[in-house]
Amino acid sequence: MTKKMWKQHDLKKHYDIVIIGGGAHGLATAYYLSKMGVRDVAVLEAKYIGYGGSGRNTAILRSNYRTEEGIRFYDQSIQLYENLSQELDFNLMFSQQGHFTLGHTEASVSGLTTRAENNKALGVDSYMLDPIEIKKMLPEIDISDHPRYPVLAALYHPPGGIIRHDAVVWGYARGAEQGGVEIHNLTTVGEIRTEKNKIKGVQTNRGFVSCNKLISVVAGWSSDVCAMAGIELPFVTHPLQALVTESYKPWLHHVVVSSNLHIYLSQTDRGELVCGGGIDGYPHYGMRSTLAFLETYAAHVLELFPVLHNVKVQRQWAGLCDMTPDYSPIISPIDEIEGFYVNGGWGTYGFKASPASGYNSAQMLAQGKVPANIAPFSYNRFRENRLVGEKAAASVSN
Ligand SMILES: Cc1cc2nc3c(=O)[nH]c(=O)nc-3n(C[C@H](O)[C@H](O)[C@H](O)COP(=O)(O)OP(=O)(O)OC[C@H]3O[C@@H](n4cnc5c(N)ncnc54)[C@H](O)[C@@H]3O)c2cc1C
Repeated sequence: MTKKMWKQHDLKKHYDIVIIGGGAHGLATAYYLSKMGVRDVAVLEAKYIGYGGSGRNTAILRSNYRTEEGIRFYDQSIQLYENLSQELDFNLMFSQQGHFTLGHTEASVSGLTTRAENNKALGVDSYMLDPIEIKKMLPEIDISDHPRYPVLAALYHPPGGIIRHDAVVWGYARGAEQGGVEIHNLTTVGEIRTEKNKIKGVQTNRGFVSCNKLISVVAGWSSDVCAMAGIELPFVTHPLQALVTESYKPWLHHVVVSSNLHIYLSQTDRGELVCGGGIDGYPHYGMRSTLAFLETYAAHVLELFPVLHNVKVQRQWAGLCDMTPDYSPIISPIDEIEGFYVNGGWGTYGFKASPASGYNSAQMLAQGKVPANIAPFSYNRFRENRLVGEKAAASVSN
């Protein structure tokens, strides 16, 4: 008989810690809590684990951000990813194939150069390449002056790459379950109850569950869940679309992102091209793909790779992204409600952060202290005007 990776449990009336959201961040938090010896933890997921962005993303991992806070945090994540297959005893298919961010204007090349220098200063491997060097590594790219936006330079980041996103979700879920965490699919939180500014518990479609600590880890649904606790944080939800082509012989051996054409692509081990662009311009909660996205993507990618003019698209999809004003996350206790924590604001770029987000969130919950690596991501930064500005490094680069 096939062994199940996680069990179905009866929902208890009380847990020490309740995690809302069964995406990679919620499951990673649960996994690291169990590793720290914290028992009595439940993950409540409205649909099925990986239903949200964690099962819809294009799986690009990198740490070449712009700010010191961002670089240190995402670098911690890449380091955790490097040993994760072994640690979880599950093949996550992590391929550190290198990550290009192309610049097509003087302004973007100047921004990429700043990032390269900031990365180097903090020990992260990133450097600039000129068009001839780019062409050597990406033979099919058009570096002539014919495209609307000729390639001027690129930021190259060797540790960046791709991973199998479902495997990360399943691996963390199995690890958490083995450590005693209960994972409850089809369990929707509809209400958050507090008493005297202290968390009491959550009302779900399966009954009321009380808890000592509650963390919202619901990415695109963060505004809704925070509103249940009467908290308003600066999240704005936008859909992000992606597509995948049929399989082709291996020809693209690195992740390629264009900062000015707002597109990116990589090739999976199965040969498919996984492709994406920027967020839909207006906020909403729909998860539909559009012809406009496909047309824009095709027009822009052909400027870089005319060789793709005959490829066949297999599927398109969309997911929700919780954007913050500075394109950095919020991972923080909420001062107004004792025992309530928020982990969100992962935008279009949060999958890569799952290990560091889960590891630090688990420490925050278990020890009641905010670890130094996530202290800059408190929601109070918006009140105190100390933003962690990652817009140029985060948006389309994923
Ligand atoms: C098309 C696309 C491409 C992307 N590409 C990349 C990329 O290449 N690299 C990268 O790093 N990031 C990428 N991202 C972003 C990344 O997917 C997300 O930032 C990340 O997956 C968020 O993970 P999460 O665990 O926080 O949330 P999610 O995976 O979204 O999980 C949240 C869960 O909460 C559940 N939930 C919501 N409300 C409730 C409730 N009331 N009760 C119970 N459960 C609830 C949902 O059902 C969902 O399963 C991409 C996103 C999209 C959409």
